[in-house]
Amino acid sequence: MVSLVGGGSTAIRPGEISLSHGGVLFLDELGEFAPVVLDGLRQPLEEGVIRLARARASATLPARFLLVAATNPCPCGGGPPGACECDDNARLRYLRRLSGPLLDRFDLRVAVHRPVVDDLLSTGGGEPSAVVAARVAGARRRALDRIGMLNAEIPPGRLDELAPLHPMATAFLRQQLEADVLTGRGYHRVRRVARTIADLAGAGELVEERHVAMAAQMRVSLRISSRGRAA
Ligand SMILES: [Zn+2]
Repeated sequence: MVSLVGGGSTAIRPGEISLSHGGVLFLDELGEFAPVVLDGLRQPLEEGVIRLARARASATLPARFLLVAATNPCPCGGGPPGACECDDNARLRYLRRLSGPLLDRFDLRVAVHRPVVDDLLSTGGGEPSAVVAARVAGARRRALDRIGMLNAEIPPGRLDELAPLHPMATAFLRQQLEADVLTGRGYHRVRRVARTIADLAGAGELVEERHVAMAAQMRVSLRISSRGRAA
C-alpha cells in the first residue's frame, strides 16, 4: 500500500502513483494485488491527487497518471483454450478481487487472446509505431484545436457542448444504459473515448453511432468463461 499510494510510518513518502504523475503507471498481474490496495487507487484516479494523513502530518501529493494494467483470466494463467486447470470458484474469486468500481474507471477494457502460431511466425508486421504515434499526435492536436483540452479532460457537464452526439449515437447509448450494460460513469467515459475515435478517423463535429459502438466494444466485461474468453 505504502509503495503504491504513498505514506509511511515516520516521514510521508510519495508512492508509485505520485512518481508516475504525468506519465504511465503499469500494474502487471492486477489480480494479484490485495483488494484494499486496489481500492486505494480509486480516489486518486478520480481526483488526480492523493491525500495522505498520518498521526502527526498530512500531505496532498500530485497523482495524475495514465493507468495501464494487465491480468490473467485466472490463477493458472489460462493457457490455450480448454487448458485452464482452475475450477469456477477459483476463477470467480480471482476476478472478484477487481472490484466493479475500479474496473469502471478504466476507459478501455480489452480481452487479449493468445496469438495463433501463424501470426507469431509471420514476418509481415503491423503498422510501424512511428506511423501510429503520428496518428495519435494528430488526434490530440485536433481535440486541442477544437475545444482547447484533450477529450479525456472534458467534464461530464460539458460533453453535450464539446462532444455532441448524432441522434443515432444517442439512441445507441440509451439502449446500452437501459440494458444496464453501461453505468453512469461508464457512459461519460464511452463518450470521451468515442470522441477520440472520431478524431482518429478525422470525423466531423458530431460523434456518430459507429464511434460510440466501437468505444462500447472496447469496454468488455471481465467475466471470463472456462474457455478463457471474455463474456
Ligand atoms: Zn486457470
